[in-house]
Parts: sequence; structure tokens; C-alpha cells
Amino acid sequence: MKNVAVIGAGTMGNGIAHTFAQNDFRVQLIDVSQQALNKGLATIEQNLERMVAKGKITEENKAQTLGNITTYTNLEEGVEYASLVVEAATEQESIKKSIFKDLDQFCPEDTILATNTSSISITSIASVTNRPDRVIGMHFMNPVPLMKLVEIISGYSTSEHTFGVVKEMSEKLGKTPV
Ligand code: NAD
Repeated sequence: MKNVAVIGAGTMGNGIAHTFAQNDFRVQLIDVSQQALNKGLATIEQNLERMVAKGKITEENKAQTLGNITTYTNLEEGVEYASLVVEAATEQESIKKSIFKDLDQFCPEDTILATNTSSISITSIASVTNRPDRVIGMHFMNPVPLMKLVEIISGYSTSEHTFGVVKEMSEKLGKTPV
């Protein structure tokens, strides 16, 4: 898995994009708002700069991380090659369901669709797709680049395989999945 699409460039989305990109994944960061994408990228750059100043990463790491991120306002284009999608859009069930319907239509058949929702049922979100076995909760903590914990939440139909892949991905990010 090398291509990860992140939906939403707000507080959580930009942190999730940063974290995957810093761990050598290619990230497609998608938002309906170009302004949100610009702001998200600026935040990622500032946070990386702070890490350089503290000696935690090099200028080269920073440049590589930024080079791993591409932004899109068009969902269909952004998810074309995604192996994993992490949705971190506004916390509203109708918005999430509309996004997951589109993801199910536009993503490759085997793409795993994860949501960072804090409160909405994974089973309910998965129900609008034709792949509920490949829908899962992947709940990062704020600020994502610093916080170690990732909660993995299976829905009613989430497969063991999907769970295993997302657990492994979390570990590749240096996180602690629970
Ligand atoms: P936010 O308001 O900062 O960002 C949401 C972004 O989603 C905005 O940039 C908005 O333009 C975008 N968006 C809205 N509809 C969209 C669509 N259809 N397609 C693409 N982008 C769209 O929100 P946030 O705080 O980052 O929260 C995102 C998710 O993460 C929520 O589900 C929330 O419950 C969860 N979460 C938040 C925190 C936190 O501390 N903020 C912690 C854990 C989980």
C-alpha cells in the first residue's frame, strides 16, 4: 500500500496527511474547499518546520514529506489509485454517507475505506456502500503527528482482513493501535 487518500484538510485531515507522508506514503489530500487545502498544506509545512528546528527531522525529510502530498478538490481524481482512504471530513452523518457513496463508486474495488469519525456508527456509514467488509473506523488523536494512539473500530460487517491491514498500517506509522 503506497497511495493513501485523505478526505478533509481540516484539523485532523492535515495531521493524518502529514503523518502518512512523513512515513513514505504518497498522499492525495482532498477537500471541497481549495482554501482549506491551502490552509492545511501551510499548517503541515509549519509543523514540519518546527520539527526541523527541534532537530527531530532534517530539511531533506521535510522536503520529502511535502513532496509526497498532492491536493485535489475533485474526489474522483483524488481516489483513483488509493489503496486506503481515511475520511476526516466534517462530523455530520449526511456528509459522511454522501462521501462514502462516492468513495464506493470511484475507488478501486479492493480499496479499504476508513473513517476518523468520533461518534458516528461505522455500521451505519458502511451501509451506504457495497463493501461493508472493507469499511472501518481509524480514529486518530489530535495533534496527529504527535499522538501515538489510534483506535481501530470494526463495524458489524468489517472483515478480519480489513482489520489486520489497518492495524498493520497504524504500526507502520509508528502508532499504537487499540
Ligand atoms: P474540521 O472542521 O477541522 O475539518 C473538516 C474538513 O472537511 C473541512 O476542511 C471541510 O472543508 C472538509 N469537508 C467537508 N465536507 C467535505 C466533503 N464532502 N469532501 C471533502 N471535504 C469535506 O474537522 P476536524 O476537527 O478535522 O474533524 C474531522 C473528523 O475527525 C470528524 O469526523 C471528527 O469527529 C474527527 N475527529 C476530530 C478530532 C479533533 O480533535 N478535532 C479528534 C478525533 C477525531
